[in-house]
Amino acid sequence: ERLARPGVRELRAYDPGHDLVALRRRFAEAQLVELGSNENPYGASPEARQAIQRALDGIHIYPDPLGGDLKRALAAHHGVQPTNLLLGNGSHELLMQFAQVFAGPGDEVVASKFGFAVYALAAQAAGATLRPAPALPRENAMPRGHDLAGLRASIGPRTKLVYLANPNNPTGTWYAADEFAAFMAQVPGDVIVVVDEAYAEFTNAPDYASALPLVTLHPNLVVTRTFSKAYALAGLRVGFAVADEGLIAVMERVRESFNVNALGLVAAEAALADVDHLQASIAGNSAQREALADALRARGMKVAPSQTNFLLVEFGDHSSRIEARLVGRGVVLRPMGGYGLGECLRITVGTEVENQRLLAALDEVMK
Ligand code: PMP
Repeated sequence: ERLARPGVRELRAYDPGHDLVALRRRFAEAQLVELGSNENPYGASPEARQAIQRALDGIHIYPDPLGGDLKRALAAHHGVQPTNLLLGNGSHELLMQFAQVFAGPGDEVVASKFGFAVYALAAQAAGATLRPAPALPRENAMPRGHDLAGLRASIGPRTKLVYLANPNNPTGTWYAADEFAAFMAQVPGDVIVVVDEAYAEFTNAPDYASALPLVTLHPNLVVTRTFSKAYALAGLRVGFAVADEGLIAVMERVRESFNVNALGLVAAEAALADVDHLQASIAGNSAQREALADALRARGMKVAPSQTNFLLVEFGDHSSRIEARLVGRGVVLRPMGGYGLGECLRITVGTEVENQRLLAALDEVMK
């Protein structure tokens, strides 16, 4: 350990909170309700499953290192060129790599308080210093998300990279399109802005807009997306970034040659084409998101507004006790102590059946 570079030495390995494999065994028959990792409970597209079946004959061969077919499909889908696209082993890999490429010792990386945990990890692993920007003041005790003016004010002469998510994990909150346009107009052109849109497909608020169309205007803007959430392929690890051709070309030099596996490439391409399946997942999520938020609010709980497939919910001083008792009943949620939101739990929006099981378990443990 002492031989590791400063910055890396201080890191802690990913902590999933619970041994989910052991819990799955324990609750095999009763079925565990897993609402801790923001996965898609409706499952992957049948077209994606068939594509995987067909690709099995070729798994003794390395995957296409260029990811050409998937890039062409994504380019057509998003109205960009394949040269504007970078594929990753999940968007997590790409988020880490931006810091490796654009920031190092002596540099600063800006990310807002209550931003996704990987941004701090990426900055530290690259040897850079994380500068946390203030979030918007809480309203009714709940976090309200990124403060873009605060984020802009935190950018200093040493800042190389800014990370922000829209909508954000773990708050579920989002910022409006015009706010972001004003922010980008003020950010110096030599600061890379990474907008993480892992949950973009779930949004339906009229003031939300993806930053994707702005990449042609700003050569320092990167948008990341994933196939793990709305496309329900979390187990295959496929993500991508959209940005200026020159920026992508630099990233292509450092990525592992075969970073996206053969099954992931074909499954993502098929999932992208299966628009009906995607739409059904999105519709199911938004209906259940509203129903679950209403049911929790009806029980007197505070729920942050969400444009994602999860809700941030306040449980007060007893949140860890409640969380542990729910696990005992086979319901897994995500504690938020690591984010300085120890009084909150993050709840993935499940299917109607899963949400009912959660609510029934909550009613038992809170009575
Ligand atoms: N960004 C955000 C905001 C996330 O919540 C997640 C997953 N929890 C990711 C990125 C990473 O997703 P993946 O690596 O599966 O693409």
